[in-house]
Amino acid sequence: MRINVTRSSMPDFEEYMEALRPLWESRWLTNMGANHEELAKQLCKYLKVENVSLFVNGHMGLEMTLQAMGLKGEVITTPFTFASTTHAIVRNGLKPVFCDIESDHYTMDASKIEDLITPDTCAIVPVHVYGSVCDVESIDRIAKDHGLKVIYDAAHAFGVRYKDRGIGSYGDASMFSFHATKVFHTIEGGCVATDDDALMDRLWMLKDFGIRDEETVDGIGANAKMNEFCAVMGLCNLRHIDEEIEKRRHVFERYRADLSGIKGLGVLQAQADVKQNYAYFPIVVEDDFGQDRQKIVDVLKENDIYVRKYFYPLTSDFDCYRGEYDSSRTPVARHIAERVLTLPMSADLNINDVDRICDIIRSCGGKG
Ligand SMILES: *Cc1c(COP(=O)(O)O)cnc(C)c1O
Repeated sequence: MRINVTRSSMPDFEEYMEALRPLWESRWLTNMGANHEELAKQLCKYLKVENVSLFVNGHMGLEMTLQAMGLKGEVITTPFTFASTTHAIVRNGLKPVFCDIESDHYTMDASKIEDLITPDTCAIVPVHVYGSVCDVESIDRIAKDHGLKVIYDAAHAFGVRYKDRGIGSYGDASMFSFHATKVFHTIEGGCVATDDDALMDRLWMLKDFGIRDEETVDGIGANAKMNEFCAVMGLCNLRHIDEEIEKRRHVFERYRADLSGIKGLGVLQAQADVKQNYAYFPIVVEDDFGQDRQKIVDVLKENDIYVRKYFYPLTSDFDCYRGEYDSSRTPVARHIAERVLTLPMSADLNINDVDRICDIIRSCGGKG
C-alpha cells in the first residue's frame, strides 16, 4: 500500500456529522459563528496563549499580521521554510533579508541576526521549522534592543511548549497553520496568537474586508475568515489531539532508534525544555553516507513510499525571486536544503512500515 509523506488525521465520520447538525438549524455558516468562537476559546487554552484570531488558512494569518502592524522596509527571515513565509513578506511590499540557520535544528541562527540589521529593518520573522523551537530568548532580546517586531511562523509548532509556556506566547505574534497536512487541522485554516489587543482588533477587521461596523470600513482588508465547517472539524480534532501527538511520538522515536548511529545520516535531536509535537521526521543525508539523497528517494518510490525534499529549494532560490537574493550567503541553509528529506510521518503510520522504511534507507548507504 502506498505510503505518503503525510496522512491527515480525522475524527469519526459520525462525530463530525453530529457536530455539524446544529448548522442546519442556525444556518450560520461563516462570519464568526458559534463554532468559530468556541474553537478560538479552546485553542487559547490548549496553546497557552492570551488570544487567537482564526483564519481561512495560516498564510493569510501571517500576511495580515504583517499588514496590521503597518511594517515598512526590511524583514529578517529564514530561507529554509515553506513558500508562505517569504511570500507573505514580499506580498506586503517588504524586503526579506535572509539569515542563515543553525545546523542542529535548522532554525534561524540568532547569532547572525544583528549583522543583518540596518536602519530599514522593521521586523524578524523566524520559523519554528519542523516544530523545533527557535532561540526565542535571544531573538526576543535582539528585537527589544533594536525596536523590532517579532512574528513567528509557528505553522509546524502546534502544541509545542518551551519552558512550560505555549510556543505562541513568545514574540509579538505567532502564526499556526491548520492545513490538512499539519499535526492539528481544520481542513484549511490557521490562527494568529498574540497578547496585543490592538493587533487582535486590526486582524478582526482585516480578515473581514476591513469592515468595522455597518457604516465604517477603516482597513483595506480582504476575506480571510474561517467558516463553520472548518471550525467544527477543529473542535472534533482538538478532542483527540493529545492522543494524536502521543501516537506521533511512537513513530518519531522508532525512526530515531532505527536511524541513529548510521554513518552520514543526520536525525533531529531533542531540545532541552521543549515539549515536542513530532510534526516531521527530517533526515540529512551527508556526503559520507556514501549515496546521495536522490537514490533514497528513488528506491523508496520503487517500494511505493513517498518522501519529500522539504525544504528544497530555499525560498531565496525560487524562480519567482531569480536574481534578487544570493543563497551563498546562507551556506548552512543551502547545505541542509541540498541534503534533507522528510520521511512519512503521521499518527497512524504502522511501526512495521517505519522499520521497513528505515531498512530501505540503511540499505542505500555506504555503497560509494
Ligand atoms: C503550512 C505552512 C504555512 C502555511 O500554512 P497554510 O495554512 O497552508 O496557509 C506557512 N509556513 C510554513 C512553514 C508551513 O509549513
